[in-house]
Amino acid sequence: MSGDDRGDSRGESRSEGQDFIRAIIADDLATGKHAGVVTRFPPEPNGYLHVGHAKAICLDFGLAREIPNSRCHLRFDDTNPATEETEYVEGIMADVRWLGFDWGDHLHYASDYFESLYGFAVELIQKGKAFVDDQSADEIRANQGSLTEPGRESPFRSRSVEENLDLFARMRAGEFAEGSRVLRAKIDMAAAVVALRDPILYRIQKKRHHRTGDAWCIYPMYDFAHPLSDALEHVTHSLCTLEFLDHRPLYDWVLENVSVPSRPRQIEFARLNVSHMVTSKRFLKRLVDEGHVGGWDDPRMPTIAAMRRRGYPARAIREFCDAIGIAKRDNLIELANLEFHVRQVLNQEAQRRMVVLDPIKLVIENYPEEQEELLEAINNPEDPAAGTRRVPFSREIWIEREDFLEDPPKKFFRLAPGREVRLRYAYFVTCQSVVKNEAGEITELRCSYDPATRGGDAPDGRKVKGTLHWVSARHAIPAEVRLYGTLFKDEQPDPHAPAGLAASLDPESLAIVPRAWLEPALASAAPGERFQFERLGYFCADPDGRPGQPVFNRTATLRDTWAKVAKQS
Ligand code: ATP
Ligand code: MG
Repeated sequence: MSGDDRGDSRGESRSEGQDFIRAIIADDLATGKHAGVVTRFPPEPNGYLHVGHAKAICLDFGLAREIPNSRCHLRFDDTNPATEETEYVEGIMADVRWLGFDWGDHLHYASDYFESLYGFAVELIQKGKAFVDDQSADEIRANQGSLTEPGRESPFRSRSVEENLDLFARMRAGEFAEGSRVLRAKIDMAAAVVALRDPILYRIQKKRHHRTGDAWCIYPMYDFAHPLSDALEHVTHSLCTLEFLDHRPLYDWVLENVSVPSRPRQIEFARLNVSHMVTSKRFLKRLVDEGHVGGWDDPRMPTIAAMRRRGYPARAIREFCDAIGIAKRDNLIELANLEFHVRQVLNQEAQRRMVVLDPIKLVIENYPEEQEELLEAINNPEDPAAGTRRVPFSREIWIEREDFLEDPPKKFFRLAPGREVRLRYAYFVTCQSVVKNEAGEITELRCSYDPATRGGDAPDGRKVKGTLHWVSARHAIPAEVRLYGTLFKDEQPDPHAPAGLAASLDPESLAIVPRAWLEPALASAAPGERFQFERLGYFCADPDGRPGQPVFNRTATLRDTWAKVAKQS
């Protein structure tokens, strides 16, 4: 993690006007309903966060930052011991911090409220609004009815309050087998809203919980735990994605029927879907578990951890989330749009370096064998404060193989036999001849240089059309460079496709350059440091690197596909 990413994003301005959620909040503040807002970001710790969560984080924490007297809680919705792990809790906290947000003293866990939640359930039973059901999960499902038909009441629905209290206490005490009984709300099996048809509030799960250990063997359902956790934390606006819209009546029912200390309001917004990405922790976990990727932070993954490792700046992700805005209807955002923000930030922030990915040797015949010199190079033309550095130059240098053509077509302005080009920050060179091996492949370019062009300009004012990047062979540092494409071939990969997820993966999503040549200044690049490799793209040092043997990930190419997309629309 590089430190410069953290913290303040206040300087960034949101390009959108006021969205519908901000309008609701502005109204609540104007009427004096609230003096500030309390929001929460409530991940379930069953995987690492993805780009969709980044949008929810930017909204929840962003509001708290924008509005005076406000705060945002990080709350782990850890009510399902079967899928949750401490590793994910720690990963999620690191990701939220890296994105630049802070929950202050408000780190919470739904599991902290297990005792209170149990008390609320008992209150419902005492009011005759909950009952213990002995039907199996299958029976309950079968009796739920459909959108057009009412459900059927459970034969256990009319149990007395005393019997329900006794059975619920014994459920807690571990007397009954997993799946043998549940606690259900007693609402209305004919309700038009299916979520209100006597929803399950508690189930028996004889599993160790990552925080409460074996203290509990009954666990509350999300629809019960969530509104109550919100109320206990005095959340004012509980923002969630559209799939919870149908559950809002249940959210409100729970709050209306127990003695809660506050009345939060649930508001739904559209999920973020990005082309060529899957935003479902379950499917991302499958990619990891089935070995399709190197891990949750494989730079091809749509997780926050992966984007960080790939070199996406936190600021770019925040600016992307702000720019796409908050919608009420689901839509698909082009990956190119996210990359546009990544390039925009990196263009401003990343220092330039010279690296040759696919080398061919260029020998300058009239440059003295033993001579070498240091040439001044600009670190970042977008940022004068970044200063300059000195790059070593000598008789033998590496250039990019594709920067030479023996028989160039008309618009090819780079090196060719007899042609003069500029070596950036160095000299003009002219190709005099080529050396070939027995197979007829070019192995070396023999050139001459003009000592009067030191620094890259001719005093006589003559021009060249091509400028090439290069690395002095004697000083070059070898490195592995990993070039990424998109993980999925399809724009909208279908995780449920019959051929399986694997069939939609792009086998060319990773190409490894085992030995690229770096200018020496890159030997000491620390993991997470980001650069523009001149003419090649943006790259980020990977933690797999060792001192003197760096590994780089390609974050993005320089080509701005977004410009094309923008022109089309
Ligand atoms: P997943 O299906 O990937 O597990 P989830 O919604 O179950 O996602 P949670 O950990 O429960 O994951 O989500 C935490 C918060 O993030 C929720 O408030 C949820 O609405 C929000 N969220 C999840 N996915 C997206 C998304 N694609 N776009 C915006 N917000 C999202
Ligand atoms: Mg969820």
